[in-house]
Amino acid sequence: MFVRVLPDQAAGRLLDYRVPEAFEGMVAVGSRVKVPVRTRILTATVIETLESSEVRGVRDMVELLDAKPMIRPALLDLAHWMADYYCCPVETAVCSVLPVAVRDGRVGEKRRNTVRLAREISTEELEALEKRAPRQADALRALAGADGPVAVTAAAEQAGVAEGVFRTLEKRGLVVIESAVVARDPYSEKFVSSAAITLNPEQEEALRAVDEAMDKPGAPILLFGVTGSGKTEIYLQAIRKAVDCGRTALVLVPEIALTPQTVERFKSRFADMQEKIAVLHSHLSDGERHDEWHKIHSGDARVVIGARSSIFAPLENLGIIIVDEEHESSYKQDEAPRYNARDMAVLRGHREGAAVLLGSATPSLESWHNAQTGKYRLVRLSQRVDDKRMPVVRVLDLRQQARRTPEGGILSAPLKEAIEGRIAKGEQTILFLNRRGFSTSMLCEACGHVCKCPDCSVSLTYHRAAGRIVCHICGHSSRAPKVCPKCSDPGIRHAGVGTQKVEEAVTRIFPKARIARMDADSMTRKDSYRETLGAFKEGKIDILVGTQMIAKGLHFPNVTLVGIVNADLGLHMPDFRAGERTFQLLTQVAGRAGRGEMEGEVLVQTFTPFSPSIQFARHHDYEGFMEQEMEFRRQFNYPPFGKMVLITLRGTMFERVEFSAQTLARKLKAASPPGIAVGDGVPAPLEKAKTYYRFQVSVRGPSSMQLARLIRSVLDSLPMPEDVFVAVDVDPLHLL
Ligand code: ADP
Ligand code: ZN
Repeated sequence: MFVRVLPDQAAGRLLDYRVPEAFEGMVAVGSRVKVPVRTRILTATVIETLESSEVRGVRDMVELLDAKPMIRPALLDLAHWMADYYCCPVETAVCSVLPVAVRDGRVGEKRRNTVRLAREISTEELEALEKRAPRQADALRALAGADGPVAVTAAAEQAGVAEGVFRTLEKRGLVVIESAVVARDPYSEKFVSSAAITLNPEQEEALRAVDEAMDKPGAPILLFGVTGSGKTEIYLQAIRKAVDCGRTALVLVPEIALTPQTVERFKSRFADMQEKIAVLHSHLSDGERHDEWHKIHSGDARVVIGARSSIFAPLENLGIIIVDEEHESSYKQDEAPRYNARDMAVLRGHREGAAVLLGSATPSLESWHNAQTGKYRLVRLSQRVDDKRMPVVRVLDLRQQARRTPEGGILSAPLKEAIEGRIAKGEQTILFLNRRGFSTSMLCEACGHVCKCPDCSVSLTYHRAAGRIVCHICGHSSRAPKVCPKCSDPGIRHAGVGTQKVEEAVTRIFPKARIARMDADSMTRKDSYRETLGAFKEGKIDILVGTQMIAKGLHFPNVTLVGIVNADLGLHMPDFRAGERTFQLLTQVAGRAGRGEMEGEVLVQTFTPFSPSIQFARHHDYEGFMEQEMEFRRQFNYPPFGKMVLITLRGTMFERVEFSAQTLARKLKAASPPGIAVGDGVPAPLEKAKTYYRFQVSVRGPSSMQLARLIRSVLDSLPMPEDVFVAVDVDPLHLL
């Protein structure tokens, strides 16, 4: 028997080893082992077991580290299925099931030095010490106030002394310092418990459906309900049911919605079992991720809340998997394996006998189609809780407004008046813009020159605070020019609008208002997100300007106005999903208004007021939009009707990439049975990124799995030039 392993420190290189007889039957995929690499012995994870190895002079592995492999059979199966369906190497799939922080032996348990009193210290003794060594006395006093050992760092801070003081005390036999394992709980505060709410009849019905699915797994449930219709309440009660029957629950939330507010809501409902909840998101340190993972692996955690990759959380005895905002494109991973966590949830739930609950106010066309064809069970929540009305949506035609406002149409007169009214009444406003930075690009009015990234085929974004132009694809940045780099005309200016420019305009118009901005640029510190949201919640901010970051999952009762600065951004992307995305976004953002007692109002500024996405969103008519959009997709055989795989080739030599793409397209055409349509090898809409030229070949047909297998077989027999890289994206969400 042989194993293929991934050493902790080998930058993704896989190596084969023979398994000595002593270890046979004990080594499995997921086992941690020691292997010789050149002259060193390294720790590695077994990614695959093999009957034979083609490596000549294959060496023996030397040690098996833990008795129990790190990957459960169910998850291993999932990885194999994923490799097949998403057309990627098995080891890539296996690696994504086992996070780096767990594979990498360097992130061990966190041990910390703790300190405690060695014996009781009398008052006289303390007073004597006070005279000779006041710092030492302070240190001892801090310890006397604690029950049990405390971290040395914390004790030093408490006493206001250097950590070395405790070392001195240790030498004098007054305290004991020892190292102990401490869990790094990123949300270690205690939460006040919140009680379950009495459900309304529609919610009862929904929970009953979930109950049935937990008893006897059947079709996944699509929970379709507007924002504020009480979906989260159903999640909470469903999780409780699962845990009460001794099962576990997995909740997926889009990364962007994994806010302290969301986590708090879950943690406070389950305050009685706080230590049984694990939270996984991208802001965790490796150490925290390692701890949370082991908490799940050991069975201590019963509920996992996390973003996309949490779908692989090693929970056992799953009762329910919940995917909130199932339509979110952030569930799709944009590197191999390019899986969609929503679809993996459906698969995992099916295989492990768990109920699957997909929730959304604007289900994706894929899910809606599945509900219509009976593959999913549709459950509706038709009203906002307590019959709160949907916010009134008014569309403001920028074509007429723009000319009349000195600010070049950033805020039209009606929006300005509406904000004024809110400030006067002490209510809050959210201004939403789907774009960060100060403006989109720098455009020369004289010659039409636009500043572009030298390495990517996109225009650079102007960032005023830094006075620089930045590429949002590769991060390239340079000083913003004062005159046109091409014709030297000083008329170069900022075309379009970004969040910074909106913030600036609003500050100018409402000098007395308290204004904050929230986007990826202003939220670079780990805590800034939390702080800004906290201040907004406490009413310390009147107007919050932001991107998608503020569109999801937030709940602010005092927000009665949402202004959408420009609804057209995104509508004109070269992507058949542009309309769907715009509709979803407008609906989501609108849902932020009027979540409290007061009625909400949404003002949408647009240059294309009659586009269907905007009109249907305005009337809160999801089904109307679906009907029209579904017809469009059917006509062109786009998903959810036809399936699609997008192959992107990139390389630094234009001709070589072009040639490879054309050759690949030709071979695919020759190998395709009838019913499969292979496109030509053409430049990608984003022609160049990070110095690489990009070409695409699209393949369409009735079944994704069939397409994936066809592509794999063609790619396996087609040698690519060494400097041309191929990425296969099955069920792609972004076509750039
Ligand atoms: P959604 O997830 O669909 O946006 P939520 O579950 O967040 O909706 O519910 C919106 C608000 O209504 C929350 O504050 C929630 O606590 C409250 N709520 C939910 N269900 C009920 C109910 N049956 N009765 C009263 N309040 C409810
Ligand atoms: Zn670039």
